[in-house]
Amino acid sequence: MLNLKENIPAKGYAMLSKDAKFTPFDFTRHPLGERDILIKILYAGICHSDIHTARSEWGEAVYPCIPGHEIAGEVVAVGEKVSKFKVGDYAGVGCMVNSCGECESCKISQEQFCERGQTIFTYNSKDIFHGGVNTYGGYSNNIVVSENFAITVPENAPMEKVAPLLCAGITTYSPLKFSKVKEGFKVGVAGFGGLGVMAVKYALKMGAKVSVFARNEKKKEEAFKMGVSGFYTSTNTDEVKERFDLILSTIPTFYEPSAYLDLLKFGGEFAIVGLPPHDNMPSISVKDFVYKAGKRVYGSLIGGIKETQEMMDFSLKHEIYPETELIKPSQIDEAYEKLTNGTAKFRYVIDMREVE
Ligand code: NDP
Ligand code: ZN
Repeated sequence: MLNLKENIPAKGYAMLSKDAKFTPFDFTRHPLGERDILIKILYAGICHSDIHTARSEWGEAVYPCIPGHEIAGEVVAVGEKVSKFKVGDYAGVGCMVNSCGECESCKISQEQFCERGQTIFTYNSKDIFHGGVNTYGGYSNNIVVSENFAITVPENAPMEKVAPLLCAGITTYSPLKFSKVKEGFKVGVAGFGGLGVMAVKYALKMGAKVSVFARNEKKKEEAFKMGVSGFYTSTNTDEVKERFDLILSTIPTFYEPSAYLDLLKFGGEFAIVGLPPHDNMPSISVKDFVYKAGKRVYGSLIGGIKETQEMMDFSLKHEIYPETELIKPSQIDEAYEKLTNGTAKFRYVIDMREVE
């Protein structure tokens, strides 16, 4: 019988260095606190952030590195003071597992901006609330998390499709809400992968007219089937005649952000969520801000826990789900390759029930 008051054994898949392949890895989760839940992970989505982190593209990662912040699973144990979950419930975990809970940002449920710098990310983060250990993500068979950082998921939910909502869903839903997208808005989505497809689906549901900016035409047909009205592989204003209220960039590689400013209406917004490797980072010059003035540029980082729950409820109510492809844990390396060489389609989801 498992003693939940001691470190809890877990099995996952880790990269041991930035050039390594994934390898099975045994480790432990911290003991179940009185407000914690233990989740048996069923599915974990692969986000491009996992790749940037595991390959040390955003600065040196801590190894072993177990990525995964799109976690969908089943609650198998609860601490004595847990009120939000009971054993047998479905739950989701996204990019964060803790924060101070007391600063202004935490109080308004913008935990990703904890003013004390105590946001604990799901992986590759120092967990100061549990002795400073490095956090391990969802490419594993279980996770222990405070109930405050777990998202409730109804029992009939399609869990394989729920997993990517925990990052790709909230990261695109949040800026669309921030920019108050509504009926008649013109929205451009740059980068049509895991995040991009969610942005398209949410924006359409919010009543916007949506166009996609991709680097090639391979997913053009899918985009039109989803209901977009424009598909471009160029930001040249001679070719792109329409002008947008909002363009959301999910691009994970180097590109020219200022080209998108030309495509905004006066007062339009350019929202950035895609975060390319630090050693090849795009930038916008002050000159462009002035000559291409009258537009707003902002960045967006996932979304708070309250908004993540709102996104989950909205997605399930309107049946807005990612386009997923289920893979086995042994196929993670192959999926990473496809996501970086341009042959992936949308979201890979790892079947964590296959963990041995
Ligand atoms: P994916 O790899 O699933 O999708 C990226 C898409 O962008 C692909 O379809 C790719 O095309 C396309 N693309 C690449 N370069 C260009 C370009 N120059 N112009 C247009 N399209 C391009 O990645 P994700 O959707 O998972 O993540 C996207 C980015 O968002 C990553 O940098 C990730 O780290 C970041 N992110 C940020 C978050 C935040 O909170 N701000 C949270 C989550 C992710 P192709 O199909 O040809 O490969
Ligand atoms: Zn992510």
